[in-house]
Amino acid sequence: MTHAVLERPALVLNRAWAPIQVTSVREALGLVAKGAALIIEPETYRTHDLRTWNDVSRAKEALIRSARLALAPPEVILLTSYAGQGARSIVFSRKNLFRRDRYTCQYCGAQPGPEALTVDHVLPRSKGGVSTWENCVLACLECNARKANRTPEQAGLKLRKAPRKPSWKLLTQAAPRERRESWDRFLSRAYWEVELEP
Ligand SMILES: [Zn+2]
Repeated sequence: MTHAVLERPALVLNRAWAPIQVTSVREALGLVAKGAALIIEPETYRTHDLRTWNDVSRAKEALIRSARLALAPPEVILLTSYAGQGARSIVFSRKNLFRRDRYTCQYCGAQPGPEALTVDHVLPRSKGGVSTWENCVLACLECNARKANRTPEQAGLKLRKAPRKPSWKLLTQAAPRERRESWDRFLSRAYWEVELEP
């Protein structure tokens, strides 16, 4: 249970309260523990460190327990020093790759569920392929077996689209079942506060 809770998505805002990426509850708590971020209580916009969040969590479902703390999983965090945009900061992680590819095999379009999808290196590692956004895609077990240690061309497979580094927008839209309702007020806030062209 705790493990699944830690893998839930958390929205990350830069210090200007602009959404920049989606991370996991685990990573979010790590940033807060380091003092690099604060947890936002979406209903009140109040910000918390772990100690005050522990107090607030008493009125919520405190699903994450350690010796000293009982915490509700944070849904939104605020970075305390980072002011930049998210484009460069999206972590290349398994979880984010699943979100980018929408839990879909990038060769045949199957959606067999996360357990039946693997991360495929388009140019195989044995041929010098590296683990990057541009060289990794989700593949179902069948396509993965068919491709083996070959390029898509050699295996007679075709990518549905060229793999790219995703934007935070794409990640927040990627898996609707993972979205948190509490994000809406921050995402629409970004909409209202975006700078318009003169
Ligand atoms: Zn497939």
